[in-house]
Amino acid sequence: MATSITAQIDAICPNCSQKATYFSEQVRKGIMMVPDVLGNIRCTNCGLAKALRFDPSMYWFKVPVEDRYLFARDVDEAVRLIEFFQSEEKTTSGPEHDFPASFYRNRAHIISKLRVLVESQVRGSNV
Ligand SMILES: [Zn+2]
Repeated sequence: MATSITAQIDAICPNCSQKATYFSEQVRKGIMMVPDVLGNIRCTNCGLAKALRFDPSMYWFKVPVEDRYLFARDVDEAVRLIEFFQSEEKTTSGPEHDFPASFYRNRAHIISKLRVLVESQVRGSNV
């Protein structure tokens, strides 16, 4: 993550429902730096550019898992999550990504849903 203070999240455009990008400052939350909920959205499809409050329902990469959602900020994180859930690991190395037990029960579901989302993004490119 280096020294960048700007976070980016692939988000659903509230105007045209295509993939847009949400930008915000990083803010401290406990021991982590996380994207601020107040930021800006920019859509290259419809030209929307405005300030807004980010809501988790806006994540482009999200998978419903029982009564919760698994989110990824971008395609890279989605790919890492696929790799993680394909492995037999029970937890990631850091405390910031300890998933609920329901996620481990639904590995196959998560992997297949994320794959569809990732493949829709990388089609035509060499990833
Ligand atoms: Zn748009």
